[in-house]
Amino acid sequence: MIRVGVNGYGTIGKRVADAVAAQPDMEVVGVAKASPNYGAEAAIRRGYDLYAAIADRADEFEAAGLGVAGTLTDLLGAVDVVVDCCPSGIGERNRATYAAHDVPAIYQGGEDAAVADASFNARGSYGAARDADSLRVVSCNSTGLSRILAPLDETYGIEKARVTLVRRGGDPSETDRGPINDVVPDPKTVPSHHGPDVNTILPDVDVDTAALKAPVTAMHTHSVNVTLEEEPSAAAVRDLLADESRVFMIPERAGIDGAGALKDYAADIGRPRGDLWENCVWAESISVEGRDLYLFQNVHQEADVVPENVDAIRALMTDTPRAESVARTDESLGVGLDSLLSDGGGVRSPLTADD
Ligand code: NAD
Repeated sequence: MIRVGVNGYGTIGKRVADAVAAQPDMEVVGVAKASPNYGAEAAIRRGYDLYAAIADRADEFEAAGLGVAGTLTDLLGAVDVVVDCCPSGIGERNRATYAAHDVPAIYQGGEDAAVADASFNARGSYGAARDADSLRVVSCNSTGLSRILAPLDETYGIEKARVTLVRRGGDPSETDRGPINDVVPDPKTVPSHHGPDVNTILPDVDVDTAALKAPVTAMHTHSVNVTLEEEPSAAAVRDLLADESRVFMIPERAGIDGAGALKDYAADIGRPRGDLWENCVWAESISVEGRDLYLFQNVHQEADVVPENVDAIRALMTDTPRAESVARTDESLGVGLDSLLSDGGGVRSPLTADD
């Protein structure tokens, strides 16, 4: 059993904790939170031992009626690995604390790549964990792009990828973010930082990105154009991507026209929190003009990095091969949507075992 601590129990941390708890080879020793708010109450209600991330605040938890099992120091003394899910920049500040306790750490994409020995995506860079003592799971956007660019590059070769990212303004619980009535270039400079982040996973793929922010909370939307080295058929690309367990090929006849319907579908089929762990690619958007491939995909920013964190734990702490880890994670969580409405839907071929 790999004993796991989660430091930072917000949008990502609470999902990572649940995903780790679902693994037969892992256990959640506890979760650490900075303040005794509704999230802390939810952690206790879900059966997690709660730790005060900031030792001085332990009394505040007790005063609020939320018993803590100890402080972050106590949690670090009891785990094999910590998953840092703190707000961007706090992970970097926590690095020395993890090192002082000699606990390997996994960070999130809001941190600079330099925070960890290697950046991680199970599809694109599982092997990077081999000689690492710490990993950084790349952002939701970089995860979503790596998952489709890796198979395209392996199969056809990528000459150049150009992606426009329409990013959600904030997560549903983030009342203080925006914009509320505009679509703004963010950053205004092109290319954006997302392309270089994808290159921490796929260093040889030439990719430029431009990004905007929109007043939506459900998902990011990517408009993807890839010039391939070989000319594929649209049908072959559809089959290639549909074969990836972490890509959901949205069938045309499903009547899913955007993030609202996607999240509705996820909730209706019983996904926890309505989460979509998979990239969601519109099948009919996949078009080929010569060597140019076009497609639209949506990425659920709160969820797509969650199975990646589980694989990052296994990659960092064990010798489990990529295909085995991904299959275990997918099976335990139920990752891999095959709509009954897709052509011949229902059966997936297994992932290849290379890493
Ligand atoms: P969040 O604000 O929802 O959650 C962070 C949690 O950490 C909060 O509960 C906060 O109270 C707590 N916290 C604050 N300071 C702390 C401290 N010193 N010690 C312990 N806990 C502390 O943030 P999030 O959206 O879950 O993001 C976490 C990381 O994941 C960031 O690096 C972010 O860039 C990355 N990420 C976020 C998303 C997303 O869409 N939300 C997607 C992918 C990656």
